[in-house]
Amino acid sequence: MKLNAFGDVCLRTLMLLGARPDRQMTGRDIADAVGTPYNHVSKAILELKRRGALDVTRGRNGGARITEAGLALSIGQLLRDLDPQADIVDCTGQDSPNGRACPLLKGCRLRRSLARAREAFYAELDGTTVADLTGPGPSPVPVTMLPMPPLPAP
Ligand code: SF4
Repeated sequence: MKLNAFGDVCLRTLMLLGARPDRQMTGRDIADAVGTPYNHVSKAILELKRRGALDVTRGRNGGARITEAGLALSIGQLLRDLDPQADIVDCTGQDSPNGRACPLLKGCRLRRSLARAREAFYAELDGTTVADLTGPGPSPVPVTMLPMPPLPAP
């Protein structure tokens, strides 16, 4: 299994903001801090706002801040929702250049086993929240060590 790029950007954004829930950051500051192009982060912010995980304000002093719902967000559920792939392997050939389905598709048991393994992967992450990854714990949160822009003057 491999996380899709969009899910990864969403998680980086959530962890960065979750490490400092009091902090509001602009999309550009987030992009710099998580090492991801601004347009990718911008889409992630919109998606996370739509889910109620971020409060986003526009304007000169605007930016994104994590919400209580964002801190409580299940990592497994988020990644499951954002994964456009129904299957681990392209059994039906819909993504292949020739569009041909696997000749073993009919009656293949491996396909069902892979689907269960995929669900088990997400289920393992269902009980982990953003707060679990960013709150007090036995090891420091790596994102808190990244350079952070200063808070705006009140
Ligand atoms: S062998 Fe089974 S799991 Fe693999 S591509 Fe063919 S149908 Fe899918």
